[in-house]
Amino acid sequence: MKKDYLKENGLKHTSGRAAILDVLEGAKGLMTAEQIHSKLKGKVHKVTLYRTLELFVKEGILYQTDLRSGQAYFELQKSHHHHIVCTECGLQEGIKGCPSSLQGEAANKSELFKEVTSHTLEFFGVCKKCSK
Ligand SMILES: [Zn+2]
Ligand SMILES: [Zn+2]
Ligand SMILES: [Zn+2]
Repeated sequence: MKKDYLKENGLKHTSGRAAILDVLEGAKGLMTAEQIHSKLKGKVHKVTLYRTLELFVKEGILYQTDLRSGQAYFELQKSHHHHIVCTECGLQEGIKGCPSSLQGEAANKSELFKEVTSHTLEFFGVCKKCSK
């Protein structure tokens, strides 16, 4: 059965939100808002899309990172994971597992924070094709 991200997070169901989730469900990896918008084929206004993406990130439905590109990339948080990105061609690979103990360590080392609630972490390298 399909996971109901809206219901689980106590969000109102709208056709726009459902359409955005549909696109994200079908995504093979991280997508920019621009890429999501073109997949929506005019079903959702750009302003609504940006607002919805922001809301989904805040609710923890989406993972957001910039991959050092200055652009925001989004991905559904089906299972929390990280990525390696090729610095030559931009190829992305999802890597299972997460050194989540780092989050606790960061909290322990912090003087100003009691709690660390989330993190973004990406790896960079040169893919096999580019290193030939
Ligand atoms: Zn590459
Ligand atoms: Zn991923
Ligand atoms: Zn992680």
